[in-house]
Amino acid sequence: MSTTPLSNASSTDEAERAARHPLVSRCPHRAGTRVRIGPLEIGGDGLVVIAGPCAVESEVQMREAAAAVSAAGAQLLRGGAFKPRTSPYSFQGLGEPGLQLLAAAGREYGLPVVTEVLSESDVPLVAHYADVLQVGARNMQNFALLKALGKAGKPVLLKRGLAATLEEFLLAAEYIVQAGNPDVILCERGIRSFETATRNTLDLNAVALLKQWTHLPVLADPSHGTGRRALVASMAKAAVTAGADGIIVEVHPDPEHARSDGDQSLHLGEFAAMMHELACLAPLVGRRLSPEVAAAARCSNDLQGWRERINCMDEALVRLLRERVRVAHCLGERKLAAGLPLKAPEREAEVLERVAAMADATLPPESLRRVFRVIMDETLESERAAA
Ligand code: PEP
Ligand code: MN
Repeated sequence: MSTTPLSNASSTDEAERAARHPLVSRCPHRAGTRVRIGPLEIGGDGLVVIAGPCAVESEVQMREAAAAVSAAGAQLLRGGAFKPRTSPYSFQGLGEPGLQLLAAAGREYGLPVVTEVLSESDVPLVAHYADVLQVGARNMQNFALLKALGKAGKPVLLKRGLAATLEEFLLAAEYIVQAGNPDVILCERGIRSFETATRNTLDLNAVALLKQWTHLPVLADPSHGTGRRALVASMAKAAVTAGADGIIVEVHPDPEHARSDGDQSLHLGEFAAMMHELACLAPLVGRRLSPEVAAAARCSNDLQGWRERINCMDEALVRLLRERVRVAHCLGERKLAAGLPLKAPEREAEVLERVAAMADATLPPESLRRVFRVIMDETLESERAAA
């Protein structure tokens, strides 16, 4: 460890931060909080995807959305019944009937549901139907609501305010935990900036920094963070790469006719395509986008969908293998320059043991050893051909 003034200063900062919001600050030897929703967990090594329309509009809309996002591998369904709209003349949501439609669609497709609660007095009603209670950006500092959520008995998805600092964001989370509810999930959803080309600026610094500062799970919302459908998949991947535990994304069966946030809502097919991309990315950044919960529960008579996902994985594997061989070529050139043989049996044994140590029930050590034996033989073949 370095003992430069900078490192001393940062550990002092850390201690000061922990003193300001002790319940949500990350302590050095404590694992991150995993918020459990039935068999699902947010904040573990799995990547969580919450998807669905901005607002619940009708039974047909919710069933179509739920069927599609579930088949594509989303683990939770979203949909607002109480909408915080900038204009009082905009669609305000269906209220309780909307909660009923959301809950019914979630039940039908085996998806827990996430929905916004706008006011303290609505907490019992919304908690009756929802599995996760969302606090919208405009309500991040509604302290009466935050305190009421401390007693709601359901996990809370707390969105960052449009102009809130990370310190204010963590203090808002601290209110909920202090009031008795440890199950808080943070969500970066874009902040106001001078830029007008996008609706907001998705602050990925916040995702990376929050993962260091707090033990709470951190999600990103690339829909509100950009306001443009064409940017959502890119920013979802960027957020996952920055360390987000998952994403919440708006998806609509007919975005052109959506009653709110249509411009940023993905078409159903776009969502499925994004899920393939995330499934390929996830293992590269140390995450699972595991279909296991989804697969067992429901999603899968869609053989073509699963095959496309396998194809996407195969492409990622070939690209990685090619890169591995290229690196091996560089190493091979240096070995030859140093008068060493290309084949190094001790190093090969070490590689096999390293990968075998990563075994689990899905891929036992012998399988990994066999696969890597072939990879190393083929790599050597390529190196010899190039030499
Ligand atoms: C929403 O999720 O639809 C929403 C209103 O989000 P935010 O509070 O982040 O604007
Ligand atoms: Mn919205």
